Amino acid sequence: MPSIYIETYGCQMNVSDSELMYGKLQAEGYVATDTPVGADVVLINTCAIRENAEQRVIGRLGELRRDLKPGAVLGVTGCMAQRLGPRLLETDTRVQLVVGPDSYRMLPSLIDGARNGERFSATDFDLEEHYEDFSARRFEGVKAWIPVQRGCDYRCTYCIVPTTRGPERSRKLAEVVRETHEVVAQGITEVVLLGQTVNSYNDGTHDFADLLRAVGAVDGIRRVRYTSPHPNDFSDRVIAAMAETPTVCEHVHLPMQSGSTSMLKRMLRRYSREEDLECVARLRAAMPGLGLTTDIIVGFPGETDEEFEDTLSLCREVRFDDAFTFKFSAREGTPATRMPPEWTIPEAVVDARYDALVATVRGISREKNMARLGERMEVLVEKEARKGELFQARSRDFKTVLVPGTPESIGTYMTVELTGTTGATFTGTPVQERAPLPMAG
Ligand code: SF4
Repeated sequence: MPSIYIETYGCQMNVSDSELMYGKLQAEGYVATDTPVGADVVLINTCAIRENAEQRVIGRLGELRRDLKPGAVLGVTGCMAQRLGPRLLETDTRVQLVVGPDSYRMLPSLIDGARNGERFSATDFDLEEHYEDFSARRFEGVKAWIPVQRGCDYRCTYCIVPTTRGPERSRKLAEVVRETHEVVAQGITEVVLLGQTVNSYNDGTHDFADLLRAVGAVDGIRRVRYTSPHPNDFSDRVIAAMAETPTVCEHVHLPMQSGSTSMLKRMLRRYSREEDLECVARLRAAMPGLGLTTDIIVGFPGETDEEFEDTLSLCREVRFDDAFTFKFSAREGTPATRMPPEWTIPEAVVDARYDALVATVRGISREKNMARLGERMEVLVEKEARKGELFQARSRDFKTVLVPGTPESIGTYMTVELTGTTGATFTGTPVQERAPLPMAG
């Protein structure tokens, strides 16, 4: 049987797409392999969100040219494939397939053609495509990524995603619930609902609040997460559904991008600093103790010292548990590339602001984590930690806790006491749940 290797870059949506591609190709008789060396088909599932993500892929394609066995099919899938299309076939003669995110259904026939020496680019959008009949081959046995929405209808001026993933469309709620039942039957108890602006989910009948309640009520599910929401789509209904569904975890990853209203306007984020803060206040009022993380971009065109200071002050005001910080990366075709050249922020300024932002975020995170030592919480053991003999576990509010265990602990829940922190991650000691005191008399 021919073997297939898929290497995945970028976001969880890409991880989920790779799982779908593996599932489809296995159903067609391919055997998955965990190395490109000797594989009959090698697919690189790519990300286009930042320039360096694409450079990594180009470097990787160069390496693979040396490693591939003669006659192996090399294909590029995902957002970079969608963005560059046939240009990729022209610039890299070893690449035979370029397949965008809405064309994975064609993979078996495209691979057949490529094995006969043909070369293809398939990058049409298909607004009906959700791959409902594909059975994902899941990489992780502990949690399941479930795509609920594809594409994006926002037009943030820095972002390539609307170009690479097309307009927003949602799966039917019943299909998402069906898939949730399937993953429970496989022994998985945590699901992560995926979408570019997941809380704008709407299948024509149901909104994201309905979806959270329906998935959260599936028998056997213990944890529901989702990523990434848009601040504008946190309706009161969505917040209530989160707060009132016990299986929905107390964590929100809220991408704010900037703390400056004028900057947010240039980014076309469609909210102001004040609206952002109001969203945080509503979330925290409904769910005290909510874990809150964010994404922030520094060095967006025209960023002034005052605007950057607004971002730092937002971080200090909200006190995020963590933040993913990025230096602005200009993406071909996005509105940000058409902004006046004099708005470009010098690299040294970007670097200095980035360092200041990271120091601020880390300092707050450290302070918050130190204050939690001694707390008890439930964690789900996910995998072996990279170093030492500990295992990596996750709390409901998205803290990473390293715990002692055995390979059999993976996928189990334990109650731990937080005994140490690096400032970012915790170590935890398992504790016995206290038995209720006997009734007097
Ligand atoms: S909401 Fe904005 S940043 Fe997010 S995927 Fe859509 S366009 Fe990109």
